Amino acid sequence: MGMKIYNSLSRRLEDFEPLTPEQVTIYSCGPTVYDYIHIGNARTALVTDIIRRYLVYKGYNVKLVQNLTDIDDKIIKRAGELDISTEQLAHQNGEAFFEDSQRLGIQPADVHPKATEHIREMIDLIQILIDKGAAYVIDGSVYYRVNAFASYGKLSNRKPEDLLAGARVEIDERKEDPRDFDMWKAAKPGEPSWDSPWGKGRPGWHIECSAMAMKHLGETIDIHAGGEDLRFPHHENEIAQSELATGVPFARYWMHVAFLKIDGQRMGKSEKNFILLRDALDHYPTEVIRHFLISAHYRHPLDYNQESLTKSEGALRRLSNCLDALKQYDTEVGLNERTDSPLQHAVEKMKTQFTQAMDTDFNTAQALGTIFTLVGEVNKVLSSRHEVENSVFAEAYQALSETCQVLGIYNTEAQNSNGNIEAKLEPLVELLLEFRQDARNRKDWETSDKIRDRLIELNIEIKDTREGTTWKIVS
Ligand SMILES: [Zn+2]
Repeated sequence: MGMKIYNSLSRRLEDFEPLTPEQVTIYSCGPTVYDYIHIGNARTALVTDIIRRYLVYKGYNVKLVQNLTDIDDKIIKRAGELDISTEQLAHQNGEAFFEDSQRLGIQPADVHPKATEHIREMIDLIQILIDKGAAYVIDGSVYYRVNAFASYGKLSNRKPEDLLAGARVEIDERKEDPRDFDMWKAAKPGEPSWDSPWGKGRPGWHIECSAMAMKHLGETIDIHAGGEDLRFPHHENEIAQSELATGVPFARYWMHVAFLKIDGQRMGKSEKNFILLRDALDHYPTEVIRHFLISAHYRHPLDYNQESLTKSEGALRRLSNCLDALKQYDTEVGLNERTDSPLQHAVEKMKTQFTQAMDTDFNTAQALGTIFTLVGEVNKVLSSRHEVENSVFAEAYQALSETCQVLGIYNTEAQNSNGNIEAKLEPLVELLLEFRQDARNRKDWETSDKIRDRLIELNIEIKDTREGTTWKIVS
């Protein structure tokens, strides 16, 4: 069975066929860097990360582009409040975004284009649309003429009258049609601006994504992903701009990640009801947050609450205990003849079902189900002490660790959050080890031993080797 993706554009499950065999291009709308990202934003970023990991696991060559919107109304407003430049604010929050993403185990995109570095491409695209009669200039601002694009509304499935009534259309008397949107905003005093054929100004949000996606991935991309809230007007407008300019489909598959709720309420910055990703990561290990965020299918709403997180914690504990118990057999794979044990059948079944779940619109909830069913089977065998060939345990270990790595809930290199803690403690421990070395050089054994003993009390074990002193966290 091949892969199927639910395409928001056709509103049905479609066979997945990339434009070029074995190559997949993905564009994911990234953050507007005026603040830290919240855990709802993280859900979209994580889903994109898993889509990419799974496509790579299936043997595709994937190119992922995720933009950073580093100029926009919110950035200008926040920078003004903090009395810093928009560049400084965007830089700080851009760095914080990369740091938070890394802490969540999200692999960086192949390209992270910034809007302010693609002004030229945006101006060129706007000019093409003006030349085609799809845009008009008023007082240094350029508007997209929605009437020029016959299939406007196809993604959000809205009729023209709904678009007028339902959309939060800005009241601007100068526009030909209330649905028209700005692609270039004439400069206001004191705001950052760039030169353009229409005078100084800055790009609108929608044109940024059209221009950056096409620049880095070509006129037609395979998968365009983003949060559910971006479907209209942002993605509708991206389609209108890009397809009118090129005459070809902009994205073959549109994927939208559902909202994350918090204790049953909608999470969002505008509702002032949100949890920052970095705060969540201070409370729970990476794998627990990842497990929670993929415990529902990405098109279903998910509720962030204490109970769900506690459940994820318990599940992860069961998983890592099982993998720890199996790990010792890892080297024995293939040493024995194939056996006919029920556990071996369970391993085969799990591998097939995992692929089926992920092939069906990346159903991570079901995929997790198959993993935990196998964990249950392994635990049964381990506790019953039934004779099982070690090679079967090895196969179970390999199947579990491989699938868990696709989901990013098991990291063979840093199996738990100790890695993160160690990184944070490193400068401090290194400093103490330096003092200890000074003491040893002075033959002050008392101080040297005191530092070692006090570190042990703090669960930090140190070891003197010929190459120097090493340390690790023990529990
Ligand atoms: Zn976008």
